[in-house]
Amino acid sequence: MTARLLDGVAMGRAIRQEVAQDVARLAQVGIKPGLAVVLVGEDPASQVYVRSKGKACEEAGMHSVTIRLPATTTQAELLATIDKLNADPAIHGMLVQLPLPKAMNSEQVLRRIDPRKDVDGFHPENVGKLVTGDPTAFRPATPYGVQQMLIRSGVETKGAHAVIIGRSNIVGKPMANLLIQQGPGGDATVTVCHSRTRDLPAIARQADILIAAIGKAEFVTADMVRPGAVVIDVGINRVDDPTKEKGYRLCGDVAFEPVAAIASAITPVPGGVGPMTIAMLLKNTLQAAELTRAG
Ligand code: NDP
Repeated sequence: MTARLLDGVAMGRAIRQEVAQDVARLAQVGIKPGLAVVLVGEDPASQVYVRSKGKACEEAGMHSVTIRLPATTTQAELLATIDKLNADPAIHGMLVQLPLPKAMNSEQVLRRIDPRKDVDGFHPENVGKLVTGDPTAFRPATPYGVQQMLIRSGVETKGAHAVIIGRSNIVGKPMANLLIQQGPGGDATVTVCHSRTRDLPAIARQADILIAAIGKAEFVTADMVRPGAVVIDVGINRVDDPTKEKGYRLCGDVAFEPVAAIASAITPVPGGVGPMTIAMLLKNTLQAAELTRAG
């Protein structure tokens, strides 16, 4: 391996410590940032994420509420829960863990969250603010975490060609919107690829910064990477592995070993983008609490 490893665990920890310091500062003026996480149903991966979010919140000195609703919850009941949290002054930020059960209308649910509490940044008001470069936007935590990784690792985005594989509303699109903004961690030339892209490997090979957010294990192979490129792997995939106690292992969207042999820097999975996501969620909750202070 020749690539520098971009350590999301260490970077995420540093950000959480910074957040904890700001939380302590807010405590002096009587504000304790509060995050509510709503989980509908029993999806095992979602349960793990929700637990980690609650734990990280408490460790940073924040108020944390987890609301677990059964899979049989109706849309109306979920909307009523959101209304309650919207009106609760102890809750500065909230998110509804995705994916929701299929019977639910996620769009309607996300629109119900007060944009001032929308720490996932999925409400159309925050999406619009992100696109127009309004600094009060809540930036979706995963791409925000990727941007912070680039900044904190000294990877120059200005003038760089960033190729993003994936165009989801959660990762790919907001990632592109962050990287094309003016300023630190921005000013990149951005190409977004997806399943309809013609000759994706040829486009990927043009990337100075290649970001994979596809959801397909080891999709990005070494022949798709320009030697010296920075490779960010957002993917989290479970692959069967009978040698592991759980019967599976986690891997990213990038074939790690062969790509690490030619890239200049790479994120591991696990231990890369994942821990950054939680850190940025806390940062957004802090931002929401500071917003109430500003009035
Ligand atoms: P989605 O399934 O919503 O989006 C996947 C994107 O990849 C789509 O735009 C799709 O294209 C594109 N894609 C799929 N197959 C191909 C292909 N063969 N060639 C080119 N493009 C393809 O996933 P998410 O964006 O939500 O998540 C992506 C990955 O990131 C997942 O592994 C997920 O688990 C992980 N993730 C990790 C997080 C973290 O904290 N580290 C947070 C969020 C997600 P099209 O639109 O044309 O279908």
